[in-house]
Amino acid sequence: MQVTDVFVCGGGPAGLAAAIAARLEGFDVVVADCFKPPIDKACGEGLMPDGLAALAALGVFPSDEESGLFCGIRFVEAGRSVEARFSQGEGRGLRRTTLHEMLHRRASELGVTFRWSTQVLDVKDGVVRTGHEPIRTKWVIGADGIHSRTRERLGLGKGRRLSRRIGLRQHFKVRPWDKFMEIHWSDRGQAYVTPVGPEAVCVVVVGRDRFRSVDASLAWFPELAERLQGAEVESSQRGAVTEGRIYDRVTSGCTALVGDASGSVDAIAGQGLALSFLQARELATALSRGNLNLYQQAHRRINRVPIFMSRSMLLLDRFAAARHWMQKAFYRDPRVFEQMLSVHVGIAPLTILGSSGILSLGLQILATQEVWDCVQSL
Ligand SMILES: Cc1cc2nc3c(=O)[nH]c(=O)nc-3n(C[C@H](O)[C@H](O)[C@H](O)COP(=O)(O)OP(=O)(O)OC[C@H]3O[C@@H](n4cnc5c(N)ncnc54)[C@H](O)[C@@H]3O)c2cc1C
Repeated sequence: MQVTDVFVCGGGPAGLAAAIAARLEGFDVVVADCFKPPIDKACGEGLMPDGLAALAALGVFPSDEESGLFCGIRFVEAGRSVEARFSQGEGRGLRRTTLHEMLHRRASELGVTFRWSTQVLDVKDGVVRTGHEPIRTKWVIGADGIHSRTRERLGLGKGRRLSRRIGLRQHFKVRPWDKFMEIHWSDRGQAYVTPVGPEAVCVVVVGRDRFRSVDASLAWFPELAERLQGAEVESSQRGAVTEGRIYDRVTSGCTALVGDASGSVDAIAGQGLALSFLQARELATALSRGNLNLYQQAHRRINRVPIFMSRSMLLLDRFAAARHWMQKAFYRDPRVFEQMLSVHVGIAPLTILGSSGILSLGLQILATQEVWDCVQSL
């Protein structure tokens, strides 16, 4: 029987990041995934500065040729736009397949062992069962995504679902028109536009209700439709569910969960990948100290702000009046948007919201008639 220190179930971004981090701590690591590299998935493909820094800490550095740079976020709706720059660092967009290839290469260089095209069937008493030879392991990492069977096996419950939406992704061959990641808003959902290379953008449309295609939904975003007019479509459309979900516990015995398996934030936050990379490093530290409680605590700390920010942004998705109010406030005083962005990417603490006028802005949004009507009807 093969023996290892750490077995990682799922070789997506979270699984590979966890494998790299554990290997950097000196563990022998085996990763298994049902698919083989490069693994693709519907994603906005944007990494905020904190995500990029966490990726660099794993030893992965996307180049200008294989990624697109952005220096802030721009909101666009109904002919109006407002933007904020990151006060530190930069963001990058890179295709999921490129990100996967880079993480795979780094993990291979470090000596991680892979079992691709291999489904994990069961893990019991430290023995992992796949269709091939069983593996004995000291630690198990569940990185098997939002429908994690590892989590199910641990009996950690269904957690609390905060949101559920549908996303469709497509790439367009067009030179990015600016160095911003754009969020186009409408009453039906958002379109996130991320530069992913010198001549390519990734467009993800996310909505609460089902919709037919990225192409059909462009009617909700006239400014974006105009930008993409005549642009060559570069990839086939790919869809995925995006959920906000939290769990009380992400560890049990010798098993820990990372990435979407450990809880997820809605795509609107653009933070799922950053969370996976940050969690991976904290988990490796906890493994090296032989104490998964350290990871449980770190996980709660890492996820707190992204959960808060994504929930706040989803309020804006739901309540058009609040959204328009907020956009006007940002337009009048762009510094408010900049401060919110700094909190979002972990540069400024959440407490800044109390002193910067954002808290009072939030309260005024909550007081808008539309939100108030909804609260009263509950
Ligand atoms: C529409 C959309 C847009 C998004 N936009 C962004 C964005 O712009 N920026 C950002 O940071 N995040 C974004 N996210 C979130 C991000 O995509 C996820 O957080 C990220 O994919 C989580 O990675 P993961 O490795 O945990 O899960 P996954 O990518 O789902 O990987 C899980 C892996 O586990 C494997 N697996 C599952 N079960 C088994 C099994 N039994 N045996 C073997 N292998 C198994 C699967 O094959 C898969 O490869 C977006 C998400 C969506 C849906």
